[in-house]
Amino acid sequence: MIYGVISDVHSNLEALSAVLSHLEDFEVDGWICCGDIVGYGPDPNACLDRIRALKNLSVICGNHDLAVIERLELDWFNQYARAAVLWTRGTLSAENRVFLEGLTARLETPDFTLAHGTPRNPVEEYLLSPLQFRDNVPLVNKWPLFVGHSHMPLLFRFADGDPEKVDSRFLDDTEETLPKISGGGMAPAALNPGSVGQPRDQDNRAACGLYDSSKGTFRVFRVPYDIAGVQAKIRAAGLPEYLALRLAFGQ
Ligand code: ZN
Repeated sequence: MIYGVISDVHSNLEALSAVLSHLEDFEVDGWICCGDIVGYGPDPNACLDRIRALKNLSVICGNHDLAVIERLELDWFNQYARAAVLWTRGTLSAENRVFLEGLTARLETPDFTLAHGTPRNPVEEYLLSPLQFRDNVPLVNKWPLFVGHSHMPLLFRFADGDPEKVDSRFLDDTEETLPKISGGGMAPAALNPGSVGQPRDQDNRAACGLYDSSKGTFRVFRVPYDIAGVQAKIRAAGLPEYLALRLAFGQ
């Protein structure tokens, strides 16, 4: 199976459309979405409509999705994120609200595991360090683990199969061959495809990933999109100016 992997779309329809059309060229059999579909950006309903229509979709919610449906305290967020959560609450359709209410922040399928942040704390913890990866390994049954939340394309795996040595890296568009256990199943590896709608690694192109479960490979792609168009929509919606500016800087 070939999966298109997306995360942290954040209501950015132009970025979402760009990555979906890029990934569709690979004859994707199914889709993985690691949460934070809404928040920050100006098109929550259009993004949810596109994502809900994806075939064989495995999807979880993130902290912004939960805040929009009033299941996470606003104190958790900075002033810009909070303003966007409040704006999104007033914009979200009843149908899309019901969809978000049906999502969990962690999901295990026969082919992989999803957690927005980490398996240990899927709503709040950012998976950024080798130690965090090691601590979360016992909590996962089905590898690989796909995460989002940090908005950065990242890989964690054990180096040379040694559970004391973790290989952790930013991912560019090189195809990674993921580790396997002796019986042929997938060994521990955590993958973040980066953020579709608000990249934070100083590269302002939308990020996404492609997972081939038969070959055991994962590859990140960066896709240019109409940033100025999204910035104009953010301003027209009355969302904070900072949310428009940061898109151009990829931060
Ligand atoms: Zn996010």
